[in-house]
Amino acid sequence: MGDLILVLDAGTTSTRAMVFDLAGGLRAVAQRALAQHYPQPGWVEHDAAEIWQATRACAREVLAETGPVACIGITNQRETVVAWDKLSGEPLARALVWQDRRTADACTALREAGHEPAIQEKTGLLLDPYFSATKMRWLLDHAPAVQAAAQAGRLALGTVESWLAFKLTGGAHLTDAANASRTSLLPLAATSSGASWDEGLCDLFRVPRLALPEVVDNAGAFGAALPEWLGAAIPLTGLAGDQQSATIGQGCLAPGDTKATYGTGAFVLANMGETVPRSRYRLLGTVLYQLGGARHYALEGSVFVAGSLVQWLRDALGLIASAAETEALARSVPDTGSVVIVPALSGLGAPHWRPEARASITGATFATTRAHVVRAALEAMALQTHDLADAFAGDGARWTSLRIDGGMSANDWIAQDLADMLDLTVERPAFVETTALGAAMLAGVGAGLFASLEEAASSMRGEVSRFVPRMNDAERSARLALWHRALAKL
Ligand code: ADP
Repeated sequence: MGDLILVLDAGTTSTRAMVFDLAGGLRAVAQRALAQHYPQPGWVEHDAAEIWQATRACAREVLAETGPVACIGITNQRETVVAWDKLSGEPLARALVWQDRRTADACTALREAGHEPAIQEKTGLLLDPYFSATKMRWLLDHAPAVQAAAQAGRLALGTVESWLAFKLTGGAHLTDAANASRTSLLPLAATSSGASWDEGLCDLFRVPRLALPEVVDNAGAFGAALPEWLGAAIPLTGLAGDQQSATIGQGCLAPGDTKATYGTGAFVLANMGETVPRSRYRLLGTVLYQLGGARHYALEGSVFVAGSLVQWLRDALGLIASAAETEALARSVPDTGSVVIVPALSGLGAPHWRPEARASITGATFATTRAHVVRAALEAMALQTHDLADAFAGDGARWTSLRIDGGMSANDWIAQDLADMLDLTVERPAFVETTALGAAMLAGVGAGLFASLEEAASSMRGEVSRFVPRMNDAERSARLALWHRALAKL
């Protein structure tokens, strides 16, 4: 019992429970899909009761397999807002998911009123429906049960880890600083008045301070699960949003250490140490983790289209039958024959931020084959990442190496191309579930099983494959020139 850690990983499309040993070995895993509700174009909702029930069911399933565990860590889809009744513990409305765009007009109005620079300065975030604050306000304005609970002083607002912690412990209302830093209500710098919500931001977004959870460290004694849920009063000792958790799980604990997750989109986070990040290139500043009240920060950039480009080649264009096939196709030709794909299928994210941009395929001739097009799609991963690397370097966070994970990172050709184009060593762990691993490391530290995150990382992280750069400068420059020309034409 002293050597197992239960992780609850509440993602966007599914929720999982995993049990780890202290050497990072995965002892058991259970998963349930989550229903996605799309009541209108651009709206995305979850049923918070389902998230809790499915997560609890997964936890019971893995515990039945492994027996008792020492502690629990939670990691979660970030920014998604849950509103519930503090007394009954029941949700008051559907959860508004991070992808939900319904508050776009509210964000535009705040931007036009000139609030964005001050919000960015204070929170590290831009004005976008992605973040939680405008979603909280929307629920207060449009869900009568949320309004009534606010008036009666019974309203609880929180992100998904906060909701799960409340249910699990039977009433602790808290959030970790890393999740809190995605709401637009938390000042990045811990102030003299403590590490909590900013009154001015709560007023600006009109979110009642009393409904918000207490902001706590990412590891510590946060209460215990009610014995009726999991059969024992297991201490809850770790909390973190998924991207921060993956960064920790990749062992990016020193300034400059950077991870990139290549899934549907790509999320890159670079450890900034204890320096509050200030971006001039529209990257996001975020709390990586808070321990003993001290904050460590990350700079974050995301590109919208990564694995989804491969899905598009498969499902919309029918060029390939499976994602895995892209690797052999890319290897079957020496280059793309000057074909360049700029995958702006839903606009361009960081560092370009051009929502109106649309994708292009340029440079094709009669000699172009499907292999050239597929190779150009895979090359777009390293090229987009190169643009991000430039932005991070401009913001004082030059990458020293890149640690990759996510479904697409299984593709060795992409991993090598990243090393070549970035001129950096790329590392890929054999165990790619870094999000859950990070939450296990935090929970282990919170439970006193490890003295520090560094100790947890050295014990729990496993083997890595290394890809070292072997492309010459001339070839790299030529490819970048073609890419920049294609970008300029969008
Ligand atoms: P998410 O967590 O965003 O759902 P995953 O991390 O599961 O995504 O990654 C799945 C994505 O990776 C899909 O978009 C798929 O097209 C892509 N993918 C999976 N395997 C490969 C591969 N071998 N080569 C290229 N792309 C791949």
